[in-house]
Amino acid sequence: MLEAERKQGQFPQLEMSHLLYGGKEYFDKFLERQNFFDNHPMFKVNHDFYNKSRQDQILLNAERTIEAFKTIQLADPNYYTPNVLCPQGIFISTVHFAMVIPAFQVLASDEQISKWMTLLKNLNAFGCYAQTELGHGSDVQNLQTVAVFDKQTSEFVIHTPNIEATKFWPGELGLYCEFALVFAQLQVDGKGYGVHPFWIRIRDKETHKPLSGIEIGDIGPKMGYSVKDNGFMSFDHFRAPLDSLLNRYIKVSRDGKVERQGNPKVGYGSMMYMRNILCDQYTKFGGRALTIAIRYSLYRKQFKDDNKQEIRILDYQCQQQKLFPLLAEFYACVFGSVKIKELVNDNFNRISQQNDFSLLGLTHAVLSGAKANYTYFVANCAEWCRLSCGGHGFAHYSGLPIIFFEMSPNITLEGENTILNLQLARYLLKQLQHIVSKPNAVPEFFKFLSLETVKVDDVTSLDNLIALLGLNCAILTKYAAQKLMSHSDMKESWDTKSGIALAKAASTFIPYFNMLCFLDTINNKAKDTKTILTVLARIYGISMLLNNMQGLLLKNQLNSQQIKTLQDTRESLYPIIRLNALSLVEAQGLSDNSLQSLIAPKEGDVYMNMYNFASKENSLNKQQVHNGISYIQKMREVNAKL
Ligand SMILES: Cc1cc2nc3c(=O)[nH]c(=O)nc-3n(C[C@H](O)[C@H](O)[C@H](O)COP(=O)(O)OP(=O)(O)OC[C@H]3O[C@@H](n4cnc5c(N)ncnc54)[C@H](O)[C@@H]3O)c2cc1C
Repeated sequence: MLEAERKQGQFPQLEMSHLLYGGKEYFDKFLERQNFFDNHPMFKVNHDFYNKSRQDQILLNAERTIEAFKTIQLADPNYYTPNVLCPQGIFISTVHFAMVIPAFQVLASDEQISKWMTLLKNLNAFGCYAQTELGHGSDVQNLQTVAVFDKQTSEFVIHTPNIEATKFWPGELGLYCEFALVFAQLQVDGKGYGVHPFWIRIRDKETHKPLSGIEIGDIGPKMGYSVKDNGFMSFDHFRAPLDSLLNRYIKVSRDGKVERQGNPKVGYGSMMYMRNILCDQYTKFGGRALTIAIRYSLYRKQFKDDNKQEIRILDYQCQQQKLFPLLAEFYACVFGSVKIKELVNDNFNRISQQNDFSLLGLTHAVLSGAKANYTYFVANCAEWCRLSCGGHGFAHYSGLPIIFFEMSPNITLEGENTILNLQLARYLLKQLQHIVSKPNAVPEFFKFLSLETVKVDDVTSLDNLIALLGLNCAILTKYAAQKLMSHSDMKESWDTKSGIALAKAASTFIPYFNMLCFLDTINNKAKDTKTILTVLARIYGISMLLNNMQGLLLKNQLNSQQIKTLQDTRESLYPIIRLNALSLVEAQGLSDNSLQSLIAPKEGDVYMNMYNFASKENSLNKQQVHNGISYIQKMREVNAKL
C-alpha cells in the first residue's frame, strides 16, 4: 500500500541512512544487529507482554538479556544500539556498562583498574551506581551517607544516618547486582572531605543475600522501566576495606593521612559518557516514534474529498503541523549529536593523553544543554506521535506508549534538565564576560554572544535563521545577566530571582548549535540530499524561532510581518516534506520488529494486525467467560440495596 508513497522520495535514501548513523560502517553494524533481533524467536515482539505481571516481565527480560549476550557485545560504546532494539524494555547491565565501568575508568587508580576491570567487564563483579538518596538527588554534595575512617582497623564504616540518606533509585540494585559504587561523605579524624565513591560488595557471592549490615530491595512499580529493578539500600555501620575508596584523586593511608592528587574535574568524565549516550543513542527513539506516526498517518484515512475518496490523515495540514516540525527536529538533534560525540571524544583524548583540560568547560556546557534539549525532544516527540495516532496511539500495540514511558525518565536522570540548563547558563554568563574582557578566549560556538542586532532581508534563509537564533540567545543571556546582577546577593538572586531567565536563555542555545551542525551536514552534499535537508533545516530553524522568540521581541528584532513570513514559509515547505516523509523516516532502516508496532508495518493491513492481536493473542480473551464476571452479579446486588 505504501509503495507509491515510497517512490515519491526525492533523495538517495542510503546516503541519508549513512548520515543518520554517522557513516556506512555504523549503519551496516546497526543493520547486522537488527537482523539478529529480527530473526531470533525470543526477540519477536509480542504485545501480550503488557498483560504480564511485572515479575513475569522482569524474568522475560532476563532471558532476553542472556540471548542477546550470547551474540552481541552489549558493552561496546561505539555501537551502543542494543537498547534501541531491545524489545519492551532495557537489557540488564545497562547501568553496569554505561555508568559503573566508565566511572571506574575515571575515578579508580591504575592499581584498582588492573584488579577489577576484567572482573567488571566479564560481569564477575556486577555493580550498580548508588548515588541518589531518598532525600537528595541533584544536590550531590549534600548526600548524607557517611564513610567514616576507622584508624584502628584501617576500614571505612559506611552508615546511613537517617531515612533520608537511604540510597534510592539505583538501577540493577533491587534484584541483581552484587557490588555497588556507593557515593558517601568521607570523614577522617572528624574532618569531612566531601563525597567520594566506594566500591563495595553488597550481596553474598554464594547466596546472593544482602551482606550483614545492609538492607536492599526494589523500590516498586514506576511509570515505565517496569523491567528495571531500581532499588533502595541502607547501611548499618557496614565495614568496607581501605581499598574500597576509588582513589585516583584522593588517597587515605592506613594510618589516616589524606592526600588529594590530580585534577578532580576529571570526575565529570563518567557523567559525560552517559550523557553522550543519551544524546547519541536515545535520540533515535524519537525517530522510531516518528516512523510509526508517519506510516500510520499514511495508512489511516478519515473523511472524504470532493471525489468521494477518503483522505489520508497525513494530507491534513494540521496533521503535518504535528509531525513535520518534529521530523525536522529529529534530524537536527541527530546531526547535533554527531558533533557532540566528536567534542566529547576530543576532550577525553586531550585530557588522557596530554593532561589538557582546555575543552572541559566547553564540552560540559554543550553536553549539559544538549542532554536537556534532546531528552525533552524525545519525550515530547513520543507524546505528540501518540496523539497524532488518535485512539490507537493509546494502545500498547501501537508501540508508542513504551517509547514515552521508557524515555521520559531521561529528563530527570543523569542530571535533571532544569539544573543542566542552569549549568549551561553559568557558562553562557562566563563567555558573556569574556566577550568584553578576553574575546580571544571565547570558543567559536559562543562568539554569537557579541551580537547586538542583525540586519536580515529574508528571515527564512538558513544563514539568517542561524543569526536570529544566535541573537535571540544573546539577548536572553544579557537579560538574565542583568536580572541576576540587579540583586546584591548573587546566590539568592540566582536561586530565587533569576532562575527562570537563566534557564530560558540556556534553553535557546542548543537550537542555535543544532542549526550550525545542520548547516555543516548540508554543506558538500549532493544536490538532492542537500535540497531536502535544507527544507528540513529551515522548518527546524523557523519552528525554534516561533516557539522561543522572546529575546528578539524584547529588542524589537522581529516585526509582525516577519513573524507572518516565518509562519507562511514553514507551511509552504510542508508539501515538500509530505512527498518525502516516508523516505525520511525509512532512512533509519528500522524493521517492523524494531518498531514494535501493529499500526505501522512496512506493508500490510494495519486493521487486520490489530484485530488479530485482540482476537488471537490478547491473553485476557483466552477464557471465554472471565472469572471477573461474578463481580457483575455482586454489583447488581449492591445496586439493588441502594
Ligand atoms: C528511571 C530512573 C533511574 C535512575 N537511576 C539511578 C541510578 O542508577 N543511580 C542513581 O544514583 N540515581 C538514579 N536515579 C536518580 C536520578 O539520578 C535523580 O532522580 C536525579 O538526579 C534527579 O534528582 P532528584 O530526584 O533529587 O530531583 P530534584 O533535584 O529533587 O528535582 C525536583 C525538582 O526540583 C527542581 N530543582 C532542584 N534543585 C533545583 C535548583 N537548584 N534550581 C532549580 N530547580 C531545582 C528540579 O528542576 C525538579 O523540577 C534514577 C532516576 C530515575 C527516574
